[in-house]
Amino acid sequence: RKKIGILTSGGDASGMNACVRAVVLYGISKGCDVYAVYEGYQGLVDGGDYIRKMDWRSVTGYLSIGGTSIGTARCMAFKTHEGRLQAAENLVKHGIDSLIVCGGDGSLTGADVFRSEWTGLLDELITAGRITVDEAKTFRSMTIVGIVGSIDNDMSGTDITIGAVTSLHRICEAVDSVDTTALSHSRAFVIEVMGRHCGWLALMAGIATGADFIFIPEQPPSDEDWETSMCKVARRHRELGKRKTIIIVAEGALDKNLKPIKVDRIKDILSDRLGLDTRVTILGHTQRGGSPCAFDRILGTVQSVAAVDAVLSSSPDKPFPMIGMNNNKVTTQPLMDAVKLTHEVAEAIESRNFQRALELRDSQFLD
Ligand code: ADP
Repeated sequence: RKKIGILTSGGDASGMNACVRAVVLYGISKGCDVYAVYEGYQGLVDGGDYIRKMDWRSVTGYLSIGGTSIGTARCMAFKTHEGRLQAAENLVKHGIDSLIVCGGDGSLTGADVFRSEWTGLLDELITAGRITVDEAKTFRSMTIVGIVGSIDNDMSGTDITIGAVTSLHRICEAVDSVDTTALSHSRAFVIEVMGRHCGWLALMAGIATGADFIFIPEQPPSDEDWETSMCKVARRHRELGKRKTIIIVAEGALDKNLKPIKVDRIKDILSDRLGLDTRVTILGHTQRGGSPCAFDRILGTVQSVAAVDAVLSSSPDKPFPMIGMNNNKVTTQPLMDAVKLTHEVAEAIESRNFQRALELRDSQFLD
């Protein structure tokens, strides 16, 4: 009888609850025991009451609730060897032999580190007398499966991450609201959206709302003088009769020299050079989403079913999987490869090799 642990980690994303619900319901229907690890990796490190057995009723109503009801955390302890040793001990003590982690690239990097150390951690616990050789036997074949929950859509190896589409909906609603006031007063608005080092939210929101100009980290303006380029576009649109100007800026947007492009600077440029009455709107945490859209409920559900299937079909010779979504199909690929690719994209952006970053991100961006 498999004992599966499910945890949500890192930044919350709408649809994480759909994940937890599906792991619990499908896991139980397949004859597994399912445990929720509360508060992300922190719960794994602290153990005790943070690890609770779930039943059918534990997840009632989860589909429509945003964020994650079992909690999430940024856990410094899990970044240390001692913290991961403690986490391994807690898993063994609770008899949990499979772990499904729903989180962003940081969380899945943590899962990958844990995976690579697993055998060594068990040996260390035995040597220290914290678990017995017999206790360790069942856990040699621990399975770890990753599911990507992140509003940023910044993980390689999957076209779309759980929570990104809900966030995009919220951003579009907010931009639409700003549009009406911008139109009324004939104003310009500079709107900052989340996404960390990834411009997916900004790019898609810009397309979906018909923004005048978009700044994203992956494709910095090609000329030094992006201020003039932006002003030219905004002026032309005004000359064509537009009563509003909307500039969308990813929080990680960079200029050609990799200096951050700040919303206040854009505001000053539009005010000073074009004489536009300009306001800044930072959407902030409303973008985290609230109630998940249908797509994220479905994405969380189908990927979690695949994650439980991956646990049930795991074997010591197979690499630990990450569940993704590619070309509209649920996919399974080595967690290690997806984590490596994600870090390669980050490095390519840092070294200004944007073409390489776009190639690595593959289908996630429009050319
Ligand atoms: P996200 O998963 O949303 O990207 P973070 O980057 O904050 O969020 O990562 C969430 C948690 O994952 C961290 O607080 C930490 O506990 C764990 N984690 C991240 N990177 C590592 C790492 N290199 N080694 C071990 N654990 C990590």
